[in-house]
Amino acid sequence: MTDSIRRAIAVLIVLCGTAALWWMGNGVGAAAANDAMTATMAKARENAAANDPRLKGASRSEKGGWIYVHLEGGPAEIGYQHGYLLGPEIEDAFAAVSAGMTHPTQRDWGFFRKAAHEMLWPKIDAEYQEELKGIVAGLHARTGSKLDVDDIVAFNAFEELPDYYVPWYNKRQKVAQAPNLKSPGNCSAFVATGSWTKDGQIVIAHNNWTNYVNGERWRIVFDIAPKTGQRMLMDGMPGVIASDDDFGINDAGLMVTETTITQFEGWDPNGKAEFVRARQALQYATTIDGYTKIMLDGNNGGYANDWLLGDRKTGEIAQLELGLKAYKLWRTKDGVFAGSNWARDPKVLKEDTPQFDPKNMQTSPNARRTRWDELLKEHKGKIDVELAQKMIGDHEDSFEKKEDPDERTLCGHTDASSRGVDVWAWGPYFPGGAVQGKATDSAMTKDMRLTARMGHPCGGDFLAKPFLAAHPEYAWQEPYLRDMLGHPWTEFHSGPAEK
Ligand SMILES: [Zn+2]
Repeated sequence: MTDSIRRAIAVLIVLCGTAALWWMGNGVGAAAANDAMTATMAKARENAAANDPRLKGASRSEKGGWIYVHLEGGPAEIGYQHGYLLGPEIEDAFAAVSAGMTHPTQRDWGFFRKAAHEMLWPKIDAEYQEELKGIVAGLHARTGSKLDVDDIVAFNAFEELPDYYVPWYNKRQKVAQAPNLKSPGNCSAFVATGSWTKDGQIVIAHNNWTNYVNGERWRIVFDIAPKTGQRMLMDGMPGVIASDDDFGINDAGLMVTETTITQFEGWDPNGKAEFVRARQALQYATTIDGYTKIMLDGNNGGYANDWLLGDRKTGEIAQLELGLKAYKLWRTKDGVFAGSNWARDPKVLKEDTPQFDPKNMQTSPNARRTRWDELLKEHKGKIDVELAQKMIGDHEDSFEKKEDPDERTLCGHTDASSRGVDVWAWGPYFPGGAVQGKATDSAMTKDMRLTARMGHPCGGDFLAKPFLAAHPEYAWQEPYLRDMLGHPWTEFHSGPAEK
């Protein structure tokens, strides 16, 4: 090649480049250049954050529709790892969950931020304040998110602020035309031991009932090795420090789950947030008594549950019905406790759930209570993890006395029911029900293992597009409602994420 030809090519390249710049300076080109620059900056930020020493030892993997994260260290490190490894999922869940908090309550997001800042934050233990601040730091490093600690605290309280605090507040402030808000009815669960199980040890299982918007995002398995307290393995939501639905085990041998108390009323603004107590109890309790003590300490009435507990060290199980005005603890080394959102202690029923009718067998909580009785008796002495997995995917409607997946079956499909669930203010065909399931036993808990199934525990799919076409009354959920596909049962064990 002669020099003159080289020069001609060089000039041509410069001209082409100039033409490209000129073209990029106009409309579409400028936007593309901006996008490219933003992406480059985001990549640089991510790369810098990935080398942060706070991420040391943390890891993430995906399996069976779940995202598994291993977090370890002090509270600031655990928080940073959580925020960083799950940054995109936190932003996505925050958008969906906050819309679900503001829409039914007719309160703007500022209302929830204020409640988080003024009422909840001062009573959160320093350890969890550090962890929550760590989540914000990790999230900022990963995505450049604008969310701050008030946003994250309000989001952590998504099960307690909208349906416990807001109705209490509306009543107190005598708000005219306040929306019909009811405490949620989340979950079907049981814990069995002694002559009820195949090996005489404890079996515990749970499916999470919630709206499908939140449920489809409730897909995290957290393995947390904190500097103080017990190692924990639990399912959860991205950005939330407690399991919140709740299913978890710790390496002191505690096995924990719950179902929510239907038509619970009450709130104590001076109490400690439920999400903090629930996390603290799983992290620090080593016995059933220890667990009970932590849940009672500063009880604010938020997200009031019937806790089902097991201690693999002793083979003992318990049910803690945690009302605000009253509570009751039952325990046994030979028996079974089931939950499907009903209270049973006369004092709790009278003082904390004045509107709940335990005799109306058509309602979802009571129909599922009947089904638990039948199913558990039928399998007495044979219950193991495999059977537990089948039971939480059960479709027998005890009121209709036939197989019919709907709002009354242990594996709930309220989107298939023209009745909805009035006691939780779920209208006809409400897109909610059983969204995922978990099960484990004493032997597995000893090795810190559990099984989990993402999507309806029966394995069925929920498809958003045909649902929204058939039910335009739920169009407001359209930006957030996604397909929720059934995945196989998958086993998880504590430790660094598998490569
Ligand atoms: Zn089902």
